[in-house]
Amino acid sequence: MMGMGLAVSASTVAPAVRRSGRRSGCRASASASGTKTEAFSPRDFRRALNKSETYNRRGFGHEDAVKGIMEKDFTSSLIQEMRDDPSKSVTRGNVTVRLADSYGFCWGVERAIQIAFEARIQYPEDTIHITNEIIHNPGVNQNLSDMGVKFIPVDKETGAKDFGAVKPGDVVILPAFGASVQEMKLLSENGNKIVDTTCPWVSKVWNAVDKYDRNGHTSVLHGKYAHEESIATASFAGTYLIIKDMAEAEYVAEYILHGGDRDAFLRKFSNAVSEGFDPDVHLDKIGVSNQTTMLKGETEAIAKFLEGTMMKKFGVEHVAEHYMMQDTICDATQERQDAMYSLVDDSSLDLMLVVGGYNSSNTSHLQEIAEGKGLPSFWVDNEKRLVDVNVIEHLTFDHQLLTTEGWLKPGPLKVGITSGASTPDKSMDRVLEEIFRQKAIIDAQ
Ligand code: SF4
Repeated sequence: MMGMGLAVSASTVAPAVRRSGRRSGCRASASASGTKTEAFSPRDFRRALNKSETYNRRGFGHEDAVKGIMEKDFTSSLIQEMRDDPSKSVTRGNVTVRLADSYGFCWGVERAIQIAFEARIQYPEDTIHITNEIIHNPGVNQNLSDMGVKFIPVDKETGAKDFGAVKPGDVVILPAFGASVQEMKLLSENGNKIVDTTCPWVSKVWNAVDKYDRNGHTSVLHGKYAHEESIATASFAGTYLIIKDMAEAEYVAEYILHGGDRDAFLRKFSNAVSEGFDPDVHLDKIGVSNQTTMLKGETEAIAKFLEGTMMKKFGVEHVAEHYMMQDTICDATQERQDAMYSLVDDSSLDLMLVVGGYNSSNTSHLQEIAEGKGLPSFWVDNEKRLVDVNVIEHLTFDHQLLTTEGWLKPGPLKVGITSGASTPDKSMDRVLEEIFRQKAIIDAQ
């Protein structure tokens, strides 16, 4: 191995890494070292990597040591009090807060943090890198930084990662939403110890798209093409098309049924298709999957709609040959969304607070549910967004950063609260304590 670390040009691992066409006939006896690149099979590579001695995805048995850190930095007695209360509420002064039935850290995120923290204990002397944010929460990422974990630099304009500082033998952590197979291969070839915290729910989607590919189907992925999870999933998909919403599904369906302007199609999805994708060729057989954090109802509606499209095109009797769908929506996402639908139905609420990282997809969908209900809803990533007494800086689900004054009315106030799957209880706690403080000032005026 090169003593100077990975000689990787930026473009080699740009987010929109694309792979050409189908993999049929590309079966390789790939080893984890990935030497037979001419017939590279992501599936075979993953299998080989799983057996490699330099690969770990189960942790290192340091649960007790990590437990103390998790409790100190992430838990909250205030949130625990609400959780224990039958009405999931707490009152301080004039403010009553009602907590969603399901919120905050999912088990996939807890597991990822646990394994990453254990890696630090397991390899106290090694240089440890991480290919991306472990989860979309600045506080948790800061924890890793404080432990000396180095984040792989990303070029803001191109999105390309610079692996130049990664030396052979270094430890490299893969985050909860996974990494592209190209990145895994690079690290494996460089002789790195790979600690893979990818959530099993994400791996489940990879298995689904791999199955579609082996059946000669194009993966139609409901997701955001620039999101790390979708980038990783696409890298396992062979031929793929990423659509972000029903409007794009309708555009694709129109093309399937009636054809259209091929160049316009390719322009529209220029960042969201595999290399060599041809809408005239690759939409005859499709399999639908999703980024795990998308709105469940939207994925289901898109899947149903595209199934109906294939029925119209090929006839009900042939649809099984042209359409596949495996349910890959994760339970945690679904539970948080269901709890949010239930919470926003509480007509006694004056407003909603959604706490979570601004680049968190699952948090954006919680905010979207509240906005859809017409409830005043404020998405903040930390308590500093409550910038002054009765002044809040907040994000809308479609990422407009707004500043609102007078959002806390005087007198009794009932607040609903939830948080994204990558948000520790401590973050909600800090936001609520700041509300209690400001509200006391407002009510004393
Ligand atoms: S939201 Fe779901 S897919 Fe994402 S980390 Fe949590 S359990 Fe895994």
